[in-house]
Amino acid sequence: MTLTFHVVSGAALGTVIGNPVAGFLLGIASHLLLDIIPHGDTGMANKYENKTNKTAQSVAKAYVSIDAAIGIMVLAILSAILPPALTDLAYSLTIMGAILPDLLVGLAELFKRSVVLRKIKTGHFVFHNLISKRFGDIPLSLGLSLQLVAMIIIFDRILF
Ligand SMILES: [Zn+2]
Repeated sequence: MTLTFHVVSGAALGTVIGNPVAGFLLGIASHLLLDIIPHGDTGMANKYENKTNKTAQSVAKAYVSIDAAIGIMVLAILSAILPPALTDLAYSLTIMGAILPDLLVGLAELFKRSVVLRKIKTGHFVFHNLISKRFGDIPLSLGLSLQLVAMIIIFDRILF
């Protein structure tokens, strides 16, 4: 899933959890479970892992950067428009848990010699590839469209 979708789903969870520790752990769980759903980025990830294609690597890096920037913008908007009673520590830690797995993948890319980070990255992709590697992925445009629709539904649920 996009980081933006993990932010929105973490925010939705965070408004109802009430407990910071439970929120953090559920945020991580939500990330891993949502990543199981095929969402269209397997082809890009495979091209990125094949280090010979510099253009594909640049595209993947731009995709991740743009996604992270949009995720931060959406989080800023959400935090500004949600009632203050809903944006407590549990809310923040649930969002942090929901984005942590992708942060760790990024760190694993930077610190390739770290055995712990490599194992975490491998574990993350067990979830990510559970269905899409066996049965194929959906087109990226469809994956992004479905995530956008799901985010609009989630926005509607938390705000109204
Ligand atoms: Zn992920």
